[in-house]
Amino acid sequence: MKEIKHFINGQFVGSASGKQFDNINPANGQRISRVHEAGEAEVDLAVRAARAALDGPWGKMTLEQRTQILHAVADGINARFDEFLEAECLDTGKPRSLASHIDIPRGAANFKVFADMIKNVATETFEMPTPDGTGALNYSIRRPKGVIGVISPWNLPLLLMTWKVGPALACGNTVVVKPSEETPTTTALLGEVMKAAGVPDGVYNVVHGYGANSAGAFLTAHPGVDAYTFTGETRTGELIMSNAAKGVRDISLELGGKNAGIVFADCDLDKAIEGTMRSAFANCGQVCLGTERVYVQRPIFDEFVARLKTAAEGLVIGPPEDASANLGPLISEKQRNKVLSYYQQAVAEGATLVTGGGIPDMPDELKGGWWIQPTIWTGLSDDSPVVTEEIFGPCCHIQPFDTEEEAIYQANRLPYGLASAVWTENISRATRVAGQIEAGIVWVNSWFLRDLRTPFGGSKQSGIGREGGVHSLEFYTELKNICIKL
Ligand code: NAD
Repeated sequence: MKEIKHFINGQFVGSASGKQFDNINPANGQRISRVHEAGEAEVDLAVRAARAALDGPWGKMTLEQRTQILHAVADGINARFDEFLEAECLDTGKPRSLASHIDIPRGAANFKVFADMIKNVATETFEMPTPDGTGALNYSIRRPKGVIGVISPWNLPLLLMTWKVGPALACGNTVVVKPSEETPTTTALLGEVMKAAGVPDGVYNVVHGYGANSAGAFLTAHPGVDAYTFTGETRTGELIMSNAAKGVRDISLELGGKNAGIVFADCDLDKAIEGTMRSAFANCGQVCLGTERVYVQRPIFDEFVARLKTAAEGLVIGPPEDASANLGPLISEKQRNKVLSYYQQAVAEGATLVTGGGIPDMPDELKGGWWIQPTIWTGLSDDSPVVTEEIFGPCCHIQPFDTEEEAIYQANRLPYGLASAVWTENISRATRVAGQIEAGIVWVNSWFLRDLRTPFGGSKQSGIGREGGVHSLEFYTELKNICIKL
C-alpha cells in the first residue's frame, strides 16, 4: 500500500508517532494510500525548517534567481502533468476533462504568474518639504512576511494550494502547507517537483493530517508562523482567526458562500442556462463560487426551470476515466450525508422537486462511491436552511422575482458575500446591479471567468483580504517606508 509522508526540509519523513489514516477514492470507496498524520513534533520540525530556509539560502537569493526557480517548478508540474492529473482524479473523483482543463494547468500557472508579477510591480515615492528647507525623501520597499502557514481544502486541491504557495514563494516567504486530509497526494508530489527544480530545502514543507487536535490545529497554534492563509469553511476560518490573534499574526481567509445567480428576462437564455449549469453542477457543486440560489425574473421563470431541468438530466455521472462523464462523486461519505440531509429537508419543507433528490444507481464496481444526483428545487421559503446555508453539493433552488430591487435584496440578504452571477443583455442594468451586489466577485453573463491579475476574495462572512495579482503582495509582503532626511 502506497504511503504518503510529510515533506520537511527537503525530505519525505514519516510521523514519529506512527499514526496514519486512510486516503479513500470517492468514486469507489476503495483505499488509495495510507497517509502519515503529523503531531506537534512534525509541525514544529516543519516550521523550524521554514524559518531556517528564510534566514538562509532562500532569503539570500536575488529576485531573478527565485523567479527562475519558480518557473522551473511550473515546468516541473507540466512535465509530470499526467501524474498530477491521475493523483488529483483519484483523490477527488472529479472528471479528467475538468482536472486536465482547470486543476493541473492552473496549479502550474500559479507559479509563473506570480513570479512574473513580482518583478514588475513598482512601489511609491514621496518627496516632502521640511522646515529647514532641505526636504526628505520617502520610498517604500517590500519584504517577505516570513513563514506562512497554508491551510487548504479538498475541492480544488492543487489549484487552491498553489494559489497561495505561488505568490508566497514569489514574494520570498517560506511555507508550511497543511493540505486537506481528503486530498493529500498532489501536495506531496509537489515536494518532488520543488526539489528537482532547485527550491532549497525548507522553503516548501508539507504536514498531513486533520484539523482539530491534529496538524491543522498544531500549525495554527505554532508561534513560529508569521501569517496564515486559509481556504475553507467560514466556521474553520473563525477558529484559525482566533488562533492567529495570539501573537497578532496576519490572516487571509477565503471562506464559504451561498452565492446568488440573477437571471433577468432580457438575458440571452442559452448563455444563462449554460452558465447556471456550470455554476450549480461543476465539480459536483463543490466550488466555493458556485450558485446555489438562482433568482429568475417571472416572465421567463417557467421556461428557465424547464430548460435547466432538461440540461441537468443530461449530465453524465461517472468516474474520472469515463471520457463522457461530466459529474463526479462528492468527496466523502461525510459530505454526501451532509448534502443528502439538505435534500431530505427540502422535501420535508414542501419544495417542488424539479429533478434529482437522491443517490443514482451506479454499476457494481462504483456502488461504494459517494455518488449523488444533480438536484433542482423550487417553492422553498426565504428562511429555509436549504436556501440560506452553504450545501456544497450539485444543487440549486430557483425562485421567481419581479423587480431589480427585489433581486438585489435577495442577493444581499445573507451574511455571505463571495460571488454572484448576473444575466442580462442590458449593459446599464448589468452595471447598476453589479455595483450594488455585496460580493467580492460579480460575473456578468459568465461564471468562473478568471484573470489571475484581478482581486479574488469574499466580503462579509466569505472572507478577509484579497488575493490575486498585485493584491497578493499586500498579504505576502510587509511594505516598509524608508524616510531619508536630505
Ligand atoms: P474545512 O474548513 O473543513 O477544511 C479546510 C482545511 O482546514 C482542511 O485542510 C482542514 O483539515 C483544515 N481544518 C479544519 N479544521 C481546522 C482547525 N480547527 N484548525 C486548523 N485547520 C483546520 O473546509 P473544506 O470542507 O475542506 O472545504 C470546503 C469549504 O471551503 C466550503 O465552505 C467552501 O465554500 C470553502 N471554499 C472557499 C473558497 C474561497 O475561495 N472562498 C474556495 C474553496 C473552498
